[in-house]
Amino acid sequence: MFIFGHLGIGSKLVHPFSRGLSDKAVLLGTILPDLIDKPLYYGFSFFTRKQGAELGMISGTRTLGHTALFLVLLTSSAYIKKSRFLAALSLGVASHLLLDSSADYFLNKFYNYPIQSGLFWPLNHAKFPIIHYNGIQEHLSTWLNPVILIGEIMGLGFLLTSFSTWNDFADQTKQLK
Ligand SMILES: [Zn+2]
Repeated sequence: MFIFGHLGIGSKLVHPFSRGLSDKAVLLGTILPDLIDKPLYYGFSFFTRKQGAELGMISGTRTLGHTALFLVLLTSSAYIKKSRFLAALSLGVASHLLLDSSADYFLNKFYNYPIQSGLFWPLNHAKFPIIHYNGIQEHLSTWLNPVILIGEIMGLGFLLTSFSTWNDFADQTKQLK
């Protein structure tokens, strides 16, 4: 799944749990795993001119930020520091991992895409999944896959309705002044 799916569907999914938390921090959390892992992989790949398994541990775009361990660390930090910002980030990240797993399920079921999960790393000697795209262009072209496209359109729809709700709220607040 790409940006609008995560931002729109992700924030909608966790909305019942995010009252009193910053919407912006939740939105940041919904894309945080990709903000960490995609530049990490493509950065390594660019500078070493290697791809996939050749890169060793960072063998794809679902590595450190896409693990349950990352979510547990973030949630524990939120709890220990009593930080609303980290709590909001954790909710967003949880939605990201859930949506990636759901998209994998449908991509695998309908299009035979390999499951790309490093969720349980480093338990059971689990390794990070090896990327199966041949470069960033092929990776971006999955945006046109119906499973991804439907997610992006739904996400954009949710985002736009949220924005109009926020604008209505802002208008009402101005009228009250
Ligand atoms: Zn992801």
